[in-house]
Formats: sequence, C-alpha cells, structure tokens
Amino acid sequence: MNLIFLGPPGAGKGTLASMFSESNEIPHISTGDLFREAVQNKTELGNQVELIMAEGGLVPDTLTTEMVRERLQRSDCKNGYILDGFPRTIAQAEALIRISTVEAAVYFAVPDEDVIRRLSGRRVCARCKAVYHIRSLPPKQDGICDKCGEPLIIRDDDKPEAIKKRLDLYRQETAPLIEFYKKQNLLKEIDGTGSPESVYVRLNHVLDLET
Ligand code: AMP
Repeated sequence: MNLIFLGPPGAGKGTLASMFSESNEIPHISTGDLFREAVQNKTELGNQVELIMAEGGLVPDTLTTEMVRERLQRSDCKNGYILDGFPRTIAQAEALIRISTVEAAVYFAVPDEDVIRRLSGRRVCARCKAVYHIRSLPPKQDGICDKCGEPLIIRDDDKPEAIKKRLDLYRQETAPLIEFYKKQNLLKEIDGTGSPESVYVRLNHVLDLET
C-alpha cells in the first residue's frame, strides 16, 4: 500500500502514520524527520536545511525530491510506505509520479484553531523523537520523556513566528494538493479531530481495512 498523508502541520499525520506503520508493517517516511536527522548528524544536507527549517520555510523541491527518491528505493518499501509531509508542493507531487505509484492520498481535515493549539503545546524528545502534548498527551513527569528520561524540548519550528509561516506556506503551497489528488481520484478525506484512536478507526474505514 503506497500512501500519502496530507494535511496541515499539527494535523496528527505523524502520530497516525506511526500507528498505521506498526500495524501494517510498512515504513513511515517523514521528510521532516529525515531532515531533522540530517541536521542532528551535521551532514551536508543538514547544514543546507537547518536555517530554512528553524524559520518554518520549505526546503527546495530538488533536494527534497532526491532524498525521497533514494529513500523509496530501499528494500523496506517493497510492500508499501506511508509518506508523511511529502509532497508539500505541486512540483513535488509531479516528481513523485515519476518515482512511484501512489494508491491513496489521505487528507486529515483539522480546523485552524485545533492546529494552532496542537502545535503550540507540542513537546518532543530530542533523543528518541517521542511526541507529547502539554494538555492532551502529557508526560508522566513534567518536561521529561517517559521512554528515555531525556528532557523534552519545543521544536524551533513550533515557536509562534515559525508556526505562522508554516501555516501560510501550507495554505499557499500544500493545500492545492487536495485538488490535485481529488482530480486523480486518489483523495480520501477524513475528520482529523479527536483522539488518535478515534482518527485511527476512521483511517482504516476510509482505506477499507478492518481495525
Ligand atoms: P514536518 O516535521 O513535516 O513539519 O517538517 C519540518 C520541516 O521540514 C518543514 O517545516 C520544512 O522546513 C521541512 N520539510 C519537511 N518536508 C518537506 C517537504 N516535503 N518539502 C519542503 N520542506 C520540507
């Protein structure tokens, strides 16, 4: 199953992709995570994208598409994949057509207020990447990761100025993909509000899978 998860930042795509990846044994490929890893490892790519990411901008299409092309060639993608955060522009979506055959684009619809609330309360573990939320998914001990005991941080791009820029870019560059995939009869829209478990049920339903 070759899937794309679409939706605004903070729509819950990453959380749902992790859940879906685990139960269906297909990799969850988050371009944001791949870039963050490159930044953390101080690779050449990491140095190129660090500032763009911290400001909430978009990494150039050519760099992003090449990274995805290489990732999709790995053997763990042979039974499918979930792309989370890619494509984010029409140019990326067109490039993806030349790389792989997408079977469905799931669009997680979430109102703006929810997106802002989710992003501004998000905390992440810098070491193991676990994601928390100060209200809806707090760690057992304030500011500390349940899984590995490291302090939790606010991502640079979850700070107010960067959130605004990411949402503006989403509206300008990424939202047009909804029409793009609708025209190809690949779009599956679901209500992305509520608990991850309730969205997960809707996700399986829209993909005609049992939960
Ligand atoms: P995310 O974790 O998906 O919110 O991505 C974090 C950041 O990585 C974004 O704000 C962009 O700076 C960069 N990024 C991730 N995916 C893409 C993409 N498909 N195209 C351009 N930039 C991206």
